[in-house]
Amino acid sequence: MPVALTIKNLQKTYRNGINALKGVDLTVKKGDFFALLGPNGAGKSTVIGIISSLVNKTAGKVTILGHDIDTDANTARQYIGLVPQEFNFNIFEPIEEILINQAGYYGIKRSTARKRAKQYLQQLELWEKRHSMAKELSGGMKRRLMIARALMHQPEILILDEPTAGVDIEIRHSMWAFIKQINQQGTTIILTTHYLEEAENLCHTIAIIDHGITIEQTSTRELLDRLHQETFILYLKNELNTLPQCDGYTIRCLDKTTLEIDVADNQLLSDIFIHLKECGIEVDSMKNKTNRLEQLFLSMVRTKHKPNIQPVAIQLPIEK
Ligand code: ADP
Repeated sequence: MPVALTIKNLQKTYRNGINALKGVDLTVKKGDFFALLGPNGAGKSTVIGIISSLVNKTAGKVTILGHDIDTDANTARQYIGLVPQEFNFNIFEPIEEILINQAGYYGIKRSTARKRAKQYLQQLELWEKRHSMAKELSGGMKRRLMIARALMHQPEILILDEPTAGVDIEIRHSMWAFIKQINQQGTTIILTTHYLEEAENLCHTIAIIDHGITIEQTSTRELLDRLHQETFILYLKNELNTLPQCDGYTIRCLDKTTLEIDVADNQLLSDIFIHLKECGIEVDSMKNKTNRLEQLFLSMVRTKHKPNIQPVAIQLPIEK
């Protein structure tokens, strides 16, 4: 598959001395749906800023469809459509005008711009609002407006920085459907997200960066296969006197009415419930200890440079 974006040994030290990127390497294939994940402060926005020519790099090489951003900046920039996290349009301008003016910056004819604006506003369910000022839109609508604007010059690569942050579930799903459609029509998509479900649902490839370096780049399927275990917290109806034993399962007691249980892929939570019931223990409610994305980060970051910290458990006599 041809390559849309290559990043080699990308480094960035901000003027205040912060060494945000220490050596990021990424390769995004043309047509891919690519997730850039990493904890807060990992350097994702800095990478995106450099690709979109908003931030100057300190060292390294970035090529966009073969065009080096150092020597061929104008061409490289034309290939990128960016949807940043923060709304940065004129809130007093009618939204159709925002789109048409954006196309103007890229030298697109007004008649073509009008047609495209109509197409994207319709697809993103904003057509009814075309004469409204941007400030009159809801948060979800503003986010969709940002996507429409980034598409006006029909970029080869669409970059979305946390596209569905703060967007309700229904809108999130319709945005996913739209972005998927854009991808199926050939646009390469790169997104950052805090929701693993989002990466899981949409992306074919996932890269993880942490502390300014790439720690992984692989297919979504391969990465998710590594999440072999989930940890659940069970809140009990009554206080425990002994720590229940359940063959093959690791159970920890956090306090007298709270248990923590590790459940592997090939194990069933229902078996634990049956066993606890046999021991006279009733479960009031339960939750996942961490979301899967956090688990993934923790497991990857731990193996790279952190000690394996076990949760603190209180001591109770073991069930006989
Ligand atoms: P992420 O998007 O993964 O949360 P960022 O790229 O925003 O990470 O930040 C990486 C590091 O660079 C952080 O330590 C952040 O404080 C710092 N940083 C980001 N932008 C700037 C800036 N404009 N000036 C100085 N430091 C910055």
